[in-house]
Amino acid sequence: MASKKSEKKEEKLFAEYPNLYEDISKADKEVCMAFAEEYKSFLDISKTEREFTENSIEAAVSLGFKDIASKNKLKAGDKIYASIKDKGLILAVVGKKDISEGFNILGAHVDSPRLDLKPNPVYEDSEAVYFKTHYYGGIKKYQWTTIPLAIHGVIYTKDGVKHKVTIGEDESDPIFYITDLLPHLGNEQMSKKASEFVPAEDLNIVVGGMPYKAKKNEDRSREPYKEAVLKFLNDKYGIVEKDFVTGELEVVPAVKARDVGFDRAFIAGYGHDDKVCAYPALMALLAQEKPEKTCVTMLTDKEEIGSYANSGAQSVLYENFLMEIVAKLGDGSLDMLKYRKVIAASKMLSTDVTTGYDPKYANVYERRNTAFMSHGLKLEKYTGARGKSGTNEATGDFVAEITRVFEKNNIPWQTGELGKIDAGGGGTISAYMAKYGMSVIDAGIPVWSMHAPYEVISKIDLYYMYLAYKAFIENI
Ligand code: MN
Ligand code: MN
Repeated sequence: MASKKSEKKEEKLFAEYPNLYEDISKADKEVCMAFAEEYKSFLDISKTEREFTENSIEAAVSLGFKDIASKNKLKAGDKIYASIKDKGLILAVVGKKDISEGFNILGAHVDSPRLDLKPNPVYEDSEAVYFKTHYYGGIKKYQWTTIPLAIHGVIYTKDGVKHKVTIGEDESDPIFYITDLLPHLGNEQMSKKASEFVPAEDLNIVVGGMPYKAKKNEDRSREPYKEAVLKFLNDKYGIVEKDFVTGELEVVPAVKARDVGFDRAFIAGYGHDDKVCAYPALMALLAQEKPEKTCVTMLTDKEEIGSYANSGAQSVLYENFLMEIVAKLGDGSLDMLKYRKVIAASKMLSTDVTTGYDPKYANVYERRNTAFMSHGLKLEKYTGARGKSGTNEATGDFVAEITRVFEKNNIPWQTGELGKIDAGGGGTISAYMAKYGMSVIDAGIPVWSMHAPYEVISKIDLYYMYLAYKAFIENI
């Protein structure tokens, strides 16, 4: 008979990462489900990096956050933010402790894989009108055919006016569509490799199919179908074909976040990577009033294509904000060495999603070192590919510090790697932060079907991730 004693011994000796739905109380489950509803609503109106940024600023301002440019001096309890070109955001709540103890930072990205319109997108072919796209981030191209698509973004007219565009989200809106070949004629296509059977240049969305009817004294256009679409856009937005060059129009799935399963354990949604981490990272910061250390959440753009450009994590604009805090806590001037030491003392969770173990694709995972859905936040000491190439690697003492904080605050967590060592790999923004001497570790939740137009996460992971992020910035 197994005694109570030996069970206890095993509990201590063996690492356990249980499914969190097994042991959740009724009350906690209710809070968890309610948090999921709030996330779904936010995700539905924040499909692009611009929308996520705009909605985050609106939420922050309603809680008293001010643009850092409007402040000459800062003190404990001050809530500030800086928009990063309207496509990224960095926010902070100033803490009680001296800034020399460093910032506590949460960093997520708010861009997601999608199709961008090309600078000259419009063309007519065989009595239909299409927009040409250029895919953004790592996608399986065939997944984007035959699903409802929406266009989101901005376009600028010659008078310098910015027009916001969202078509395909309202039930009464039309949607856009990429055709695929019928199986009856698909013999050749079906024998191709999956990476080849939908070429990138074929990811063209259908945008129209009625010709412009020339008036009595007008010549019939050589491209009447294209002309009809251009006329429509001119009437509605005042734009001409050349204005697409200044536009930033993104094609995203026209789907809303929905519960998955009879028990509603999961949520399917577009752009969980990485908005499912960005949302709790934002909420954990917005919950701060007068934290011990100065807390920061950064929501970056362009992660899916290498964190470049002035809105990506490699942009100094994020750093400028941190510099400005250090300067404005003093006499307004910047002591560079002091600043560098503040950064070296800072601690960060690079909050990005990971993959969830999927038994259908068991051969790419190493079971003992992979994240399971509903087992909570995954601490990923390193990412990279082919022998840890290109990774940040957190030090053991930093991992020990975080896990101590999590355990003290009853935060469940799991750990592991992405997949089998040579199965592939990936990176996050962590490496760009670590070069300043900051202690950084990747910490996000598992996703099924990552980078697909409709990805899946677990509600309980989302909820405990929020508690984990909050525990981190309040206690580390
Ligand atoms: Mn990501
Ligand atoms: Mn990604």
